[in-house]
Amino acid sequence: MSQRIGQQATNVWIWTILISMAAAVSLLLIWSGAREMATHGRADTISIIQFTIGVVSLVLVVKAIMDISRMREELSKEKVLGPIVTVVQCLDCNTKMERTFKDGEYVGKLTGENCRNCGSSKVIVKLIYTKTSRSE
Ligand SMILES: [Zn+2]
Repeated sequence: MSQRIGQQATNVWIWTILISMAAAVSLLLIWSGAREMATHGRADTISIIQFTIGVVSLVLVVKAIMDISRMREELSKEKVLGPIVTVVQCLDCNTKMERTFKDGEYVGKLTGENCRNCGSSKVIVKLIYTKTSRSE
């Protein structure tokens, strides 16, 4: 899972560079098109084309930025998800114990473990939850 997050992070990085370049090029086109029009006091075909291409690519760049920020949001959501924790409880003495979730566990399942307090084998899964922490 961490490998997948790393892959996504790399993609975001590459996209950020490409988009910055695209934004720079479109701003340059808009700027040079506008300057031509201002200098000559009229709009010739080339400066209109330059200006239009600049505006269109700028719109695409803005759309791509929005897509990327959504990707980043999903990325941070995944990072917030911490380890899955299982709380088990002994049915004889009610001692609760917390440990890492094991595959195939569900609430109410007899774990087959022995109670750390009284040694009873009647230990069931009481709770399963995910630790979340934004501070990490
Ligand atoms: Zn017990």
